[in-house]
Amino acid sequence: MDRYAVIGNPISHSRSPAIHAAFARQTGQRLTYEALLAPLDGFADAVAQFRVDGGRGLNVTVPFKREAFALADAHSPRAHAAGAVNTLAFGPDGVYGDNTDGVGLVRDLRHNLGCRLEGSRILLLGAGGAARGAMLPLLGAQPASLTLANRSTDKAEALVATFREQRGSIPLDACGFSALAGREFDVVINATAASLANEAPPLPPGVFAPGALAYDMMYRRGDTPFLAVARRNGAARVADGLGMLVEQAAESFVLWRGVRPDTTPVLADLRRQIDG
Ligand code: NDP
Repeated sequence: MDRYAVIGNPISHSRSPAIHAAFARQTGQRLTYEALLAPLDGFADAVAQFRVDGGRGLNVTVPFKREAFALADAHSPRAHAAGAVNTLAFGPDGVYGDNTDGVGLVRDLRHNLGCRLEGSRILLLGAGGAARGAMLPLLGAQPASLTLANRSTDKAEALVATFREQRGSIPLDACGFSALAGREFDVVINATAASLANEAPPLPPGVFAPGALAYDMMYRRGDTPFLAVARRNGAARVADGLGMLVEQAAESFVLWRGVRPDTTPVLADLRRQIDG
């Protein structure tokens, strides 16, 4: 059977093995998918061993996405734009690196949440790996504008500067959180790690336009701090990143197997497990 895995450190919490097992059952693909713990200083060796053992592809998670980028012989345009890789495919021509996080986000927003991105004013919060990976797919959705806001304004400005060419005619700007006062957005996406510290980014309350969707890339049972604040400040709809997790996995599955799984029942099962 073809062998795949998710590699990271830590890794025991990963839901990817369950998601890919469900995709394989549903599509009749014969494969195994496991969780691999790599030492913090031993990512490349762990990948090499996995290939020697017959591995066909890997998902890569924290903290190895940049190392995976360096290890790949060729990259998809979106991996190139992100400077990070979450999917490796091993073939006769070498190692191919892709980044499916951002496209997974866009698929979740569009297909699962019915969110119209075209013509929307999008606010993306954060300037780390997750925000970087989301930039190109969000620009590709043809929003009315894309604004990147971050605690460290210089990082937001530096990130936006690297997308000047890809933005086409779409207005793209960067700022700190306080500079958002007086502006409003149709879609507000939290790609900061604030929720991990049980905090919400300090946004001015008026950023949610009537009908706005608030989206947190983090997921958990109940509202994240950002989603709770968004509800209080008038967001019409809120959603967490569980759908993004399932959709990025589906994109990896398509790359490896050439078959698109139906994510709807897999996402519903996962949601039931999380909500207990
Ligand atoms: P990084 O460590 O690369 O980036 C962290 C970002 O969060 C930086 O912009 C940092 O700002 C900001 N930040 C950290 N703490 C705070 C705070 N207390 N208040 C405001 N801003 C803060 O993380 P990632 O980009 O890799 O991940 C970000 C989030 O996205 C995580 O919650 C992760 O779980 C989630 N994620 C979800 C995925 C999914 O499939 N659902 C996939 C990938 C990520 P500064 O620059 O000022 O330090």
